[in-house]
Amino acid sequence: MDILSKQAYDDSWQALDLQLSLIEQRAGLAAALSALHEHQLQTGFIRDELKELRRFRFPHPNRPECFFSAQYNPARARRFRGAGIAQRAEPERAINSGCFLCGDNIWWQQHGTETGYRLRAVNNRYTAWMNPFPLVVGHAVLASREHIPQHWHSAGGPNLKELISDLIDIAALLPGWLNFYNGVGAGASIPYHLHLHAIPRADLYDKMPLEIAARNALGGNEDRIADTKTRGYPLSFAHWQGDPDSVRQQALAWAGEWLTGPGAEDDASANIIATQTGAKLDLYFVPRHQRRSRAEGLAGIVGGFEALGEIVCSSAQELENLESGRIDYFTVERMLKQVSVAL
Ligand SMILES: [Zn+2]
Repeated sequence: MDILSKQAYDDSWQALDLQLSLIEQRAGLAAALSALHEHQLQTGFIRDELKELRRFRFPHPNRPECFFSAQYNPARARRFRGAGIAQRAEPERAINSGCFLCGDNIWWQQHGTETGYRLRAVNNRYTAWMNPFPLVVGHAVLASREHIPQHWHSAGGPNLKELISDLIDIAALLPGWLNFYNGVGAGASIPYHLHLHAIPRADLYDKMPLEIAARNALGGNEDRIADTKTRGYPLSFAHWQGDPDSVRQQALAWAGEWLTGPGAEDDASANIIATQTGAKLDLYFVPRHQRRSRAEGLAGIVGGFEALGEIVCSSAQELENLESGRIDYFTVERMLKQVSVAL
């Protein structure tokens, strides 16, 4: 593999950034991220194109419209060790303890193969990187350009209301995509650097179980929130649907109150999901607790994708459980109930 010098890397980044910015202006952010994805395949940064992925679907035996799903994605087990390519050990170059999401580390860690796209929108705050361990092809991570912690309780961390607002803005830029924030102890694998996920919606993910539960419970009444008692979903969640401005207004007012109640606890965490279809935005807030991050029978932590209704499995034992039918609709339902926290 060729190793780029810092100067060559910076030059190639700048050229790509300009090209992607032109694509964004012409065809939108999704097209720019798709071009970034192609570029990252060519440089060899993305190696796992989900060839090993297998997907399982578990319909409810009596209500086939209700289902959960699972993906067996063995590459995900490697993600806590950092990004895709074996890293060079260069402690003299490392900033912020070699943080994998700090741009100044990424050049030397990834041999110059990993390049991002600096989003001008959303307050010029994020850089989009391709996830080397994607849940779906084209899975992007939007990391803050500044090295600030993931949790809103941490000193220097983001403000919860800003996070919600940023997700709403991102959803508008990526129509149809699933965009989410995983709090600390709620699926965030890098708690020391703020990042969000943006996932293109492949055909298999037309409507995810959380979205189906929310739609069924809404019954035509838009712009209201409710919890699992009225929705038949194993996780408590709040949901707003409507035009983005009114959803933003209602959700921020609600979050302000939540922060003075359950959200004030040190261990409070959340998965926050935003997705826009046409002019309509759906926003989901799933309260979580840092000491209830895992479910029995699932090796990984329950994050935003699991909250949406698809569990991510990566161990041989889990594959065996999936193939033998030991994991079914009710198993997944129990897993999600174990991490549910009242609103
Ligand atoms: Zn960092």
